[in-house]
Amino acid sequence: MDLGIRGRRALVAAASKGLGRGCAEALAAAGVDLVINARGAEALARTAAEIRAAHGVNVTEVAADITSEAGRAAVLAAAGAVDILVTNAGGPPPGHWSDWGRDDFIRALDANMLTPIALMQAVLPGMIARRWGRIVNITSQSVKAPIATLGLSNAARTGLTGFVAGTARQVAPDGVTINNLLPGIHDTDRATSLDSGVATGAGIPLEEARARRAATIPVRRYGTVEEFGATCAFLCSAHAGFIVGQNLLLDGGAMNATL
Ligand code: NAP
Repeated sequence: MDLGIRGRRALVAAASKGLGRGCAEALAAAGVDLVINARGAEALARTAAEIRAAHGVNVTEVAADITSEAGRAAVLAAAGAVDILVTNAGGPPPGHWSDWGRDDFIRALDANMLTPIALMQAVLPGMIARRWGRIVNITSQSVKAPIATLGLSNAARTGLTGFVAGTARQVAPDGVTINNLLPGIHDTDRATSLDSGVATGAGIPLEEARARRAATIPVRRYGTVEEFGATCAFLCSAHAGFIVGQNLLLDGGAMNATL
């Protein structure tokens, strides 16, 4: 299917690997020029070069911490007028409800709620003026079904979801859609790091922790970044203009719910 976005320009945050990279790759495959970001300059440059070589699109890379004001300013300055925004950042660490103090919550809110909101506020005026835009926020299944050990993530991402719910309806008349993608467990370094914590805690090998988790998912495997990216690119496509303010769960059926 031609996604109808060839020649458009996208900013994809936190995209040197994992889910962000999956989104960047799928947009590039649809002919979209990219501005991609991550903190580590070397991995980011490698990813940019690989995407350029594979898809022949323009890729600008900006190494910066997207959760800092200076980092966002650098990324937004390089991005200029974008038609598509994919927000993303690293997730907060796991722990217990009794572990976290005010500073931990502020860090999580900054990364996973206030950063995507700031990026949206920066690009929305231009999208509205041009009467076309697509925004996808990478959030988590935890906004629908809490993951107890990820209390910081549960809290911050639910705040973002509330903001998007109202704002998506405010900007829809101007041709701009905002939706959230909610990953269940996907095969990325973040998943391996969380599985390593479980393996250490339970005194079992990493592979065993992974197999146990996969067994809880109806498709019996982790999601792939390619599947995730393809869904993201469709939400950014010309065909998705009637999808507004949705929270799309990509979890292999893991959340046991009728609706
Ligand atoms: P990942 O494989 O660890 O990749 C994270 C990417 O984000 C890397 O490119 C990393 O590069 C970049 N990044 C991290 N912090 C950044 C920052 N402050 N500024 C700029 N770039 C940053 O993680 P992932 O699995 O793709 O996860 C992406 C998001 O989805 C996270 O918020 C995660 O919590 C959420 N999520 C993931 C899953 C899953 O199963 N994978 C499930 C639910 C939710 P640098 O380190 O070089 O900056």
